[in-house]
Amino acid sequence: MTWHVLGAGSLGTLWAARLARAGLPVRLILRNAERLADYTRAGGLTLIEQGLPQRYAIPAETLDSDTPIQHLLLASKAYDALEAARQLAHRLTADASIVLLQNGLGSQDAVAQHLQGRRCVYASSTEGAFRQADFQVVFAGAGHNWLGDPLLPAAPKWLEDLQAAGIPHQWSADILARLWRKLALNCAINPLTVLHDCRNGGLRDYPVEVANICAELTELLHACTQTAAAEHLHEEVLRVIDATAANYCSMHQDVSQGRRTEISYLLGYACVAAERHGLRLPHLQQVHQRLLRHLAARGLPQN
Ligand code: NAP
Repeated sequence: MTWHVLGAGSLGTLWAARLARAGLPVRLILRNAERLADYTRAGGLTLIEQGLPQRYAIPAETLDSDTPIQHLLLASKAYDALEAARQLAHRLTADASIVLLQNGLGSQDAVAQHLQGRRCVYASSTEGAFRQADFQVVFAGAGHNWLGDPLLPAAPKWLEDLQAAGIPHQWSADILARLWRKLALNCAINPLTVLHDCRNGGLRDYPVEVANICAELTELLHACTQTAAAEHLHEEVLRVIDATAANYCSMHQDVSQGRRTEISYLLGYACVAAERHGLRLPHLQQVHQRLLRHLAARGLPQN
């Protein structure tokens, strides 16, 4: 049974390399013939762990290849996930499983709705990786992966492959609670670090802003019946700010490097959910508006 991995970016490479070195069959799916030619020239994917590069000559194909797909790891950014799923839908077998590695919320439901009938497993990852060059990825931070299916609580048999590949993971009976909690932490920290142009630790200078956002996010989580995700949110936000004080968050890195952010699947998603529940969350909405203006002023997409 072959693992098809769409997206030879940071997480795609991290997962593909570990599956391949465990002897599992893996195929990469790249955008087009040009990306495939670039990949062939690179001679494979290089994963750098603790400073040591290792190359994996994983076979690759383009989106419009016609091999059937039984296991798909969708490792694109949230804003690319639905389009990628659309382009691959006709190649999925009737019993196909799709693992969705996207951060935030919204993209997973959109893909699952489009691929109705196929099993869509949502993942939440705290592993860290970044692209050092094309097809070269640095494994920057050990972490964990939670996987779960909001529609079907039973764990799939193929988790054995992740075990064999040494991918740290756990089946979660409530993956939505995990994704909501991560979204809330992200909404409380990332936009403010962009607006104040600071590392995570810089938010210690803005305790009132952080507290106000946390209070409103807690209210939102309760309205969305995500009670577990709401518990002690403010305390955890303060802990994360301290534990990652020296880091620039992913959204800050995206903005400072002129890359598109995943705002619509993070703070944007939270604001839409608040509106749906008729909640007035002025601090959250104000930060959202300020962030949209900040992105527009830098010529970056606002979605
Ligand atoms: P990334 O490095 O930008 O990789 C995304 C990859 O998807 C790129 O290689 C891109 O191709 C590819 N792609 C997009 N659309 C495609 C299509 N239609 N066909 C083929 N390939 C396509 O992103 P990432 O950092 O791995 O992030 C993936 C998701 O994981 C995000 O939601 C992110 O927030 C989440 N996440 C990341 C980390 C991390 O440490 N990196 C940690 C936790 C969660 P091109 O190379 O051709 O552009």
